[in-house]
Amino acid sequence: RFGVIRISNLVSSEILLLAPLIEGSYGMAENIMVDSHVWVEDPDVAWIDGVVVDIKADQATVKTNDDREVIANLSKLYIKDDEAPSEGVEDMTRLSYLHEPAVLENLATRYGLNEIYTYTGNILIAVNPFQGLPHLYDAEVMEKYKEASFKELSPHVFAIGGIAYREMINEGRNKCILVSGESGSGKTETTKVLMRYLAYFGGHTAGEGRTVENQVLESNPVLEAFGNAKTVKNNNSSCFELDGVNDAEEYLATRKAMDVVGISEQEQDAIFRVVAAILHLGNIEFCKGEDADSSSLKDEQSKFHLQMTSELLMCDSHSLEDALCKRIMVTPEEVIKRSLDPLGAAVSRDGLAKTIYSRLFDWLVNKINISIGQDSNSRRLIGVLDIYGFESFKANSFEQFCINYTNEKLQQHFNQHVFKMEQGEYEKEEIDWSYVEFVDNQEVVDLIEKKPGGIIALLDEACMLPKSTPETFSEKLYQTFRDHKRFIKPKLTRSDFTLVHYAGDVRYQSDQFLDKNKDYVVAEHQDMLNASKCSFVSGLFPPLPKESSKSKFSSIGARFKLQLQQLMETLNHTEPHYIRCVKPNNLLQPTVFDNANVLHQLRSGGVLEAIRVKCAGYPTNRTFIEFLNRFIILAPEILKGEYEADVACKWILEKKGLTGYQIGKSKVFLRAGQMAELDAHRTRV
Ligand code: ATP
Ligand code: MG
Repeated sequence: RFGVIRISNLVSSEILLLAPLIEGSYGMAENIMVDSHVWVEDPDVAWIDGVVVDIKADQATVKTNDDREVIANLSKLYIKDDEAPSEGVEDMTRLSYLHEPAVLENLATRYGLNEIYTYTGNILIAVNPFQGLPHLYDAEVMEKYKEASFKELSPHVFAIGGIAYREMINEGRNKCILVSGESGSGKTETTKVLMRYLAYFGGHTAGEGRTVENQVLESNPVLEAFGNAKTVKNNNSSCFELDGVNDAEEYLATRKAMDVVGISEQEQDAIFRVVAAILHLGNIEFCKGEDADSSSLKDEQSKFHLQMTSELLMCDSHSLEDALCKRIMVTPEEVIKRSLDPLGAAVSRDGLAKTIYSRLFDWLVNKINISIGQDSNSRRLIGVLDIYGFESFKANSFEQFCINYTNEKLQQHFNQHVFKMEQGEYEKEEIDWSYVEFVDNQEVVDLIEKKPGGIIALLDEACMLPKSTPETFSEKLYQTFRDHKRFIKPKLTRSDFTLVHYAGDVRYQSDQFLDKNKDYVVAEHQDMLNASKCSFVSGLFPPLPKESSKSKFSSIGARFKLQLQQLMETLNHTEPHYIRCVKPNNLLQPTVFDNANVLHQLRSGGVLEAIRVKCAGYPTNRTFIEFLNRFIILAPEILKGEYEADVACKWILEKKGLTGYQIGKSKVFLRAGQMAELDAHRTRV
């Protein structure tokens, strides 16, 4: 069956230019000489190629292909492979030099040829074409992929879907296809193509109605429709986020999607009532009331919106007004009803809107999961996971913290998987890999989630202490993690902190961490909504167990951590396949490939991280024949004798004084930089 595991959707992240992740791992400098063809960093296109014209000490002068002279440190240059095929390679691991500029050039070259799919090992990278490419997905292509084994044909979503399906059926393994990428990179399109193909592969035609495939697909617009409505809260009129969107059409499409995922008409009506109520609620404004520090409704408009809100929620309008403008204080002696000033009432209003909205959203997610889960009696599963990407904005708050924490966890999972795949290859070739050291991101994961002592635990502690402020919380972090490699206290701040994530540094503003971590519903709000005459609304706010009724603190961070653990457990019981979607430009236009933009995504999406993992082992391998074809020139004497291919390869490697490489059963495995070294010898011949 097809299951769906969703976390949420993502917001696009800003472009950051980070120091190359795999910098320095090549030891190439010694192989660079005058006339070498190299890549040098460039502020506009990220990497530009050129020829070294002069070297003084460790500084090289490079004449770039646009006729400029650039001076750069030798350690910042990467060798360009002059023999790279002009049409690029289908699998990045086939690149002679597996480094950032080569990866980027390969993707750009292929994109230029409308080859939007490329492998990095078993990971599929999909670059959004921003144009219809129907020939890529037609029935003939589907059939071709169905017949072929993995990697027999060009990289394709179909190939990923096919191998996942085949292994599920033949080997009874649960599968998970993780589709990730930033907003607009093509996750939904990719998922659609994938689902259609899985349905085809499984012998179903994706028809109308409540098929599981349709349910999975339609769950996306439902959650998206509500995920986006959230921004209404910002009262940010620019959100209305779009010209050329037909509201009526969108509404009907959402309704249809809700039908498909199994939300009854009655429930749908209630949902739209609640959404409308939230919109009205947001329009209620307050002014100073008669008593000092009290508030009342600002004008007739506000009275109207209050009336509408209470009608839609089917609760008493006086209770609603009280719940917004007053707060009950319970002291050991007495119970006092205290008035809120206009600002306090506005905070109360926003809190109420947020509470209702988040309960509604949780309800939807739950409903969708149940309705999809129920449809099957098969025990095997292919999950499709739609992941929000790593986020780094100018200002980063608790939400970014949670998102980036998720990404660290998924990245860890990914690294381990990539590493395991590597090991599999080494084992197949029977080579020794025992000393390959693998550094993952455990440190930063621990920094966040360790109990006790991690950031989430310290945040919970701070939330429970009545006198905590963002400054005291931050101070505690500064002290605790003073010597932590992944934690930085930025200069001139009393509440910001920076985490060194796998995808780069992110500076967080802790101002709202305490508030956002506290998860409680104001008792007055709870009581009022629980008393609603609409069963849907009262159902969202079931009565609380007695002892917890006094707004006991519960932590969003801790809950998030738990959910993440559950997700990781699910993932650990499935075998992952990865699709990394890439948005080639922010103009949403075909044929434009913006290097800096793509590079950023490759870094934050873990593609370069996967390459780093690979580089820790043997990033380049060649069959004996391929190796000899390229390097026999270094030991022509071999041609005179009769040697086994593996012996001949070893001869060359030993002659050139290389160590650390491995000879497998059919391939030579080289350490990072060794290909460059051999090539350098070749140029000297
Ligand atoms: P969000 O995270 O915002 O939901 P997304 O990653 O799901 O974004 P999509 O909606 O899948 O992004 O893609 C955005 C647009 O890019 C699509 O509407 C479509 O125009 C185009 N697109 C994406 N993938 C393809 C494809 N394979 N072929 C043609 N067009 C595509
Ligand atoms: Mg989408």
